[in-house]
Amino acid sequence: MSASWKVYVDGEWREATSGAKTLLHDPSNGELVGDVPKLGKEETLRAIDAGREAFDKGPWPEMKGAERGAILKKAAEIMSTRGEAIALLETQNAGKPIRQSTYFDIALAVSHLGFFGELAAHNPTKKIQQPDLEGSHGMVLREPIGLCAGICPWNLPLLMAVWKAGPALAAGNTVILKPASLTPLTAIEMTKALYEAGLPKNALQIITGPGGEIGSVLASHAKVDKVSFTGSTEVGRDIMTMAAPTIKRTTLELGGKSANVILPDADIDRAVDGSLFGIFLHAGQLCESGSRLLVPKQREEEIVRKLVERAKSIRLGPTQSYETDMGPLVSHGQLERVLSYIESGKSQGAHVAIGGDRPTSGDLSKGYYLHPTIFSGVRPDMKIAQEEIFGPVLSVLPYDTVDDAIELANNTIFGLAGAVWSGSTRKAMSVARRLKAGTIWINDYHMLSCYAPRGGYKQSGIGRELGMQALEEFTETKHLYFDETGTLTPVARGLVLPPRE
Ligand code: NAD
Repeated sequence: MSASWKVYVDGEWREATSGAKTLLHDPSNGELVGDVPKLGKEETLRAIDAGREAFDKGPWPEMKGAERGAILKKAAEIMSTRGEAIALLETQNAGKPIRQSTYFDIALAVSHLGFFGELAAHNPTKKIQQPDLEGSHGMVLREPIGLCAGICPWNLPLLMAVWKAGPALAAGNTVILKPASLTPLTAIEMTKALYEAGLPKNALQIITGPGGEIGSVLASHAKVDKVSFTGSTEVGRDIMTMAAPTIKRTTLELGGKSANVILPDADIDRAVDGSLFGIFLHAGQLCESGSRLLVPKQREEEIVRKLVERAKSIRLGPTQSYETDMGPLVSHGQLERVLSYIESGKSQGAHVAIGGDRPTSGDLSKGYYLHPTIFSGVRPDMKIAQEEIFGPVLSVLPYDTVDDAIELANNTIFGLAGAVWSGSTRKAMSVARRLKAGTIWINDYHMLSCYAPRGGYKQSGIGRELGMQALEEFTETKHLYFDETGTLTPVARGLVLPPRE
């Protein structure tokens, strides 16, 4: 049964003024899940004015950090009590297998919102010594930036909403959240939980509608002080351009083409299982997916054979079954895009070791499913080795020496993540240090800690989410200078006033 959701703009849960709606379909079977308002520019401007006023007049920015934190933690508890229902919604809206929605997305979203609640209570003010300026001391304050926009992608709908709204609110900012048009439902549920937990009016607003129309208003408007964007590198570049005229603060979490390096001394069976997990979790629709597997040439055949063997055991199935390992892609458009990359791999001469097609009969043919696909014999210049596919497609590239592996790994415009598999921590560390990416896993993949900053090198982004840095990204730094001498210090002054009479 489908339902209608409203969005929170200027103190009320509303429909679009025009009555326009966006219909949402379950990617696993095409059934209608519900609809959300399709807002336009006018409503976005209204949200900006309301968010601006909520920041300038308070009370949110002036509340004690611990009070703000208590509201975030209470909202996390509310979400936890509704965990099953929210997980089901994430599954229906984004096509994630229920096991993943329950134990990964919702579990992490609840714990990370609680973590940001804890961070809010932490007083970041620091007293500093200034030995270069004798007779003075200083203080460094971290203050909220103002009205912040959070623009989210469709692949981790709730978690991304928490990573934007959580630290921004914890630091005392007001926030406008714009989820992806395809997957707005759980971000709306998070907003409801925050208001039930006691969030003051307009501290957080949520708007739904086309990114090119309403997202771009947020990214360019002079009253928005900061934009935190997660999405494709292509749109990230546009966001930077739109933010430039007002020198808006930006955090960008963008695409990836992560290298997963198996060293010759690795436990191959473990590395094979970890590499399949690295690429096929959420059907490869994760920014950090290990989409390039670099293997020692002398072991290439063995590794590809083992990958194919084990990939056969990955169960595609209905997303609401706990037996299902891999669900569909998020949309027909995404399926078409991934299929076109598969065609390009074939036409450029790579070998399809397994997969490459979609189920064409039975229930799965109604959804956007694609079989796990592994290409061997991939050359570094091929499109499937360079561009982000964002689907269940693994490119295996052989290397000769470890130096070659590192060069291959870094031969990309991206630098989000990667992994090294080795029997020696020392060897793994020495390779990990030479990889140009924001997160490197050693003998594992995808593990994320809310205590560790996360983000990209190169064209994978600017800034970090999670960890203490997440909070810092949503603050301005202010230096207070205190004179301790009682006189104006005549040091390095170009202008010295005559003594008073
Ligand atoms: P996208 O760039 O198409 O859209 C992201 C968001 O931007 C959506 O909310 C969209 O409506 C909005 N948008 C689109 N055009 C806009 C414009 N002109 N102005 C302002 N907003 C606009 O990305 P997507 O397809 O939703 O998500 C997939 C991408 O996200 C992949 O490239 C993936 O790697 C990336 N991603 C990165 C991370 C990370 O942490 N680095 C995490 C998840 C996803």
